[in-house]
Amino acid sequence: MALIVMKFGGTSVANVERIKNVARHVKREIDGGNKVAVVVSAMSGATNQLVAWVREASLLHDAREYDAIVASGEQVTAGLLAICLQAIGVGARSWQGWQIPVLADNAHGSARIKGIDGTKLIERLNSGEVAVVTGFQGIEPERQRIATFGRGGSDTSAVALAIALKADICDIYTDVDGIYTTDPRIVPKAQRMAKVSYEEMLEMASLGSKVLQTRSVELAMVHTLRTRVLSSFAAPESMKPTTPDTWGETGTIVCSEEEIVEQQVVSGIACAKGEAKVTLLKIEDKPGVAASVFGPLADANVNVDMIVQNLSSDGRHTDMTFTVDETELARALDVLKGVQKQIGYFDIKSSADVVKVSVIGVGMRSHAGVAAMMFKALAAKGINILAITTSEIKISVLIDAVYAELAVRTLHTLYGLDKT
Ligand code: ADP
Ligand code: ASP
Ligand code: MG
Repeated sequence: MALIVMKFGGTSVANVERIKNVARHVKREIDGGNKVAVVVSAMSGATNQLVAWVREASLLHDAREYDAIVASGEQVTAGLLAICLQAIGVGARSWQGWQIPVLADNAHGSARIKGIDGTKLIERLNSGEVAVVTGFQGIEPERQRIATFGRGGSDTSAVALAIALKADICDIYTDVDGIYTTDPRIVPKAQRMAKVSYEEMLEMASLGSKVLQTRSVELAMVHTLRTRVLSSFAAPESMKPTTPDTWGETGTIVCSEEEIVEQQVVSGIACAKGEAKVTLLKIEDKPGVAASVFGPLADANVNVDMIVQNLSSDGRHTDMTFTVDETELARALDVLKGVQKQIGYFDIKSSADVVKVSVIGVGMRSHAGVAAMMFKALAAKGINILAITTSEIKISVLIDAVYAELAVRTLHTLYGLDKT
């Protein structure tokens, strides 16, 4: 018997028919003797609709009210799943974040989980009842207001709950049957990985593979929680109940590097769309200039990612390019225009028609030449590189958005990841 957390994403609970299907997945586990806590997302599209209504009401809105509104989608699916479970003879009760409670900090809209008190849930699970928990939301204890965890945050709810309940595994059910070498919807030749290391998954998630929210991977890694991604669309009864002997048989397990026997040099390719590029033209080439640009941006909470400073041809002036999140572009430009005199630049240019494509693999630590190969292959396709960043296990390039798919496909083939 195992204690498992099962999380179902938006497409898996998109309508009542699919929620009934989810109930059968849960019943299989209960019938197999497992204790089950379920975490659900809102129906697909529901959160987008709620966010759109908030923005329609006012572009500059109160963050606590934003959270009160967008958290409601999960409340609907948790209640519906509890009803569907009861209807097929499985004892179940829905739980909202505040009822457990899931404690959050006060960064409304992208709050972090501070702790989960699992006492009440454990009591219920021990009595054989299924706990159906709303993902994406918790309560900020000081003001007693609902707080949400950022888009895709139900993954983090599930992982955090699994840690709090000391679950044996956290199963993330979604609309693909595992984690692939790259987004299988963009590259049909992508391959499902049986296992992927926490480190690589963390890079893939933060570099644009939205299959898991980055914070969920961080949490799983810190607590070495066994986390698995698998399909909710497989017929529920065709799958075996989850036991330690069978959980390597389907989906993808995110685990420690040491558990992975065959390690590729490059294991995945990611593509991040929401990037924007800013170029400062003719800034002075002197000590302190970078601080004068990035200091005010940091003060305004704008995250800067890639940075390129050109060589100065006259010894006095240079151009500087960097990237920010597309949603922060307007704020960044505003800040920089406000300090134009102090920085001393001639002009400022920006574009959001760029993407960041990354190759990721722990094998890069011990292999030279991965970057050179990448640059050569992109050049051969006529793709210009606008900026580069590297770390021990990844190389990222910024390119024009029109080349996104071509670049991902080219690199996928280049590093031998295509399905044969
Ligand atoms: P859910 O609603 O279940 O949370 P998401 O849409 O957040 O699902 O995440 C699943 C999607 O992630 C898939 O449909 C797929 O298009 C996308 N995706 C991106 N990169 C990958 C990858 N490397 N492996 C699998 N899926 C990926
Ligand atoms: N419903 C939320 C969203 O769409 C949370 C989630 O699905 O993980 O972002
Ligand atoms: Mg998701």
